[in-house]
Amino acid sequence: MLKGKNALVTGASRGIGRAIAIELAKQGANVAVNYAGSEAKAQAVVEELEALGVKAMKLQADVADEESVKAMVKEVVTQFGSLDILVNNAGITRDNLLMRMKEAEFDQVINTNLKGVFVCTKAVTRQMMKQRAGRIVNVASIVGVSGNPGQANYVAAKAGVIGLTKTTAKELASRNILVNAIAPGFISTDMTDELTDEQKEAMLAMIPLGKLGKPEDVAKVVRFLTSEDANYITGQTIHIDGGMVM
Ligand code: NAD
Repeated sequence: MLKGKNALVTGASRGIGRAIAIELAKQGANVAVNYAGSEAKAQAVVEELEALGVKAMKLQADVADEESVKAMVKEVVTQFGSLDILVNNAGITRDNLLMRMKEAEFDQVINTNLKGVFVCTKAVTRQMMKQRAGRIVNVASIVGVSGNPGQANYVAAKAGVIGLTKTTAKELASRNILVNAIAPGFISTDMTDELTDEQKEAMLAMIPLGKLGKPEDVAKVVRFLTSEDANYITGQTIHIDGGMVM
């Protein structure tokens, strides 16, 4: 489905980003694995991708740092020859009730989760415009639609990502660059492993399908949005949440 396409997935050394990288590689795409933390984990993902028969590389960059991101995108284009798919997946949480949330906690989350999407999107746009084709998928969150106590920073960032997706989709449509967002619900990853059993039980009670999602459930939707099957879809936010928010 994606043979010959070249993709960059941010925050791809673990969790949902890793699952997306693997799913795109299974469809034949070459994948650049962006990471900020453990190089060893990023290298392990690169080896998993190469075992699937595609080209892969790891690139360290903070998604919110414009110079590092520009250098990363340049490297991908130099090594792969083009950049057809960007998945803005990198994200962090710094949860706290509004009254207790420190300014730094607010800024860190907005910086990585919202400014990071802006920076990476801007960095790939010129290349995709030249190609007159491109797919961008932004990983938002269902709480960006519904709100969530204790996550003012995260919710504001993810709601911002949904708005940014719509605007970029409109700006880039004439160049055949399609931009969509996905809004996962509760997906079982290292991020959700940090939750208490009580918090997990409360979540399950809100999910009509009665279970947490898996990173692969998210990755398959990204596969669809980056494929020819999604040629006429742009500016949308697809909920992957077991029916939690309807
Ligand atoms: P995770 O913590 O396992 O993965 C996030 C990745 O982003 C990590 O590899 C981390 O190193 C990387 N990252 C963080 N800051 C970065 C930066 N500045 N530059 C580059 N990389 C950076 O979390 P996950 O659950 O796999 O989440 C992936 C995405 O999905 C995030 O955007 C998250 O907000 C979103 N999401 C997750 C859930 C869930 O239930 N797990 C639900 C909705 C949305």
